[in-house]
Amino acid sequence: PEPAAVPDARIAVECRGIVKQFGEGPRALRALDNVSVSIRENEFFTLLGPSGCGKTTLLRMIAGFEYPTEGSIRLHGEDIAGLPPFKRPINTVFQSYALFPHLTVWENVAFGLQMLGRPKGEIAARVAEMLKLVHMEELAQRRTDQISGGQGQRVALARALAPAPKVLLLDEPLSALDYKLRKEMQIELKRMQSETGITFIFVTHDQEEALTMSDRIAVMSKGKVLQIGTPWDIYDKPAERFVADFIGETNFLPAAMVGIEAGMARVRLPSGIEMSATLADGYVPSGEATLVVRPEHARVVASGGQLSGRVENVVYFGTDTHIHVKLDEGLTFMVRQQNSRSQSCGAEIGTRVGIEIAPDAAQVLRD
Ligand code: ATP
Repeated sequence: PEPAAVPDARIAVECRGIVKQFGEGPRALRALDNVSVSIRENEFFTLLGPSGCGKTTLLRMIAGFEYPTEGSIRLHGEDIAGLPPFKRPINTVFQSYALFPHLTVWENVAFGLQMLGRPKGEIAARVAEMLKLVHMEELAQRRTDQISGGQGQRVALARALAPAPKVLLLDEPLSALDYKLRKEMQIELKRMQSETGITFIFVTHDQEEALTMSDRIAVMSKGKVLQIGTPWDIYDKPAERFVADFIGETNFLPAAMVGIEAGMARVRLPSGIEMSATLADGYVPSGEATLVVRPEHARVVASGGQLSGRVENVVYFGTDTHIHVKLDEGLTFMVRQQNSRSQSCGAEIGTRVGIEIAPDAAQVLRD
């Protein structure tokens, strides 16, 4: 007999084979092309991709504002195709958080609960709890046209969380905030998600934001999901070139496959030097391959290393320095070195240097 399937963590939202086509005939646009994702209960899940890749369209379908051309969406195992948005136990926070400006913070948070006809005592208790969660108790009686953008976003979150939705959808909720506030709110949002245990589905085109907050990320491009994994998986084991390029900075190097040794690829670099490289999910290329090396996994050395070239540019970033080296073969390779107080990075523009790639740092890419 077949062994029993290992039970996965419970699935909150399952999108299967989603196709979304806008328009008809030759001008039709496939905004989503066979997208399948399973989002677990209690998960901070992020849809990440460049503008126009279909993130918002997918989110709007989960919310019920848009219907799939093909495919199904299940919420805790039940098909929700026929449910209008207001009947779904799902709430959305938008970038333009759209508070009612003439109402107070308290009244904004209470609004949804009042619409649901909840008893007064319950509303008061719930609003107090939500304001505490978002650290806005002290401004409860302030009108929302008299609070800052960051505070407004907190109120919008409290309002969306108040009816205790099973799933909260967040469409670029932090993109209107300045850098420092955005960083603070990223950590706050993550805390709110783990304190409430609500499944968050977060949309962003900002890879750093996605890496900081998510339990798992789906990387999207042109209506397709290219890779789903933890931030670590996505950054360290990109499944294909687009993912490696979109997430963080990276170097691509052409290499020739020499062979396979103990599950690792043996490759020859443009410099003629051989090294070993990891393979993504059993992918074995033949002949030519592309290697990916993150800039922090290499360092500039006075001599030796697997590559050599001339320092082209040195860019200081406070915590680290980016050193651009023009390789003898013509490509530019970027190295990121951490700065220390007592020592400069040692690379001067115009000098000849070697580049030492850390063992295990190079990965063969699926093109
Ligand atoms: P952004 O980050 O810019 O919001 P996105 O990844 O969320 O982008 P979507 O808004 O989902 O992208 O759009 C995906 C594609 O579908 C785009 O090419 C967009 O122009 C198109 N699209 C979205 N809504 C409609 C619509 N109602 N009618 C026609 N085309 C649409």
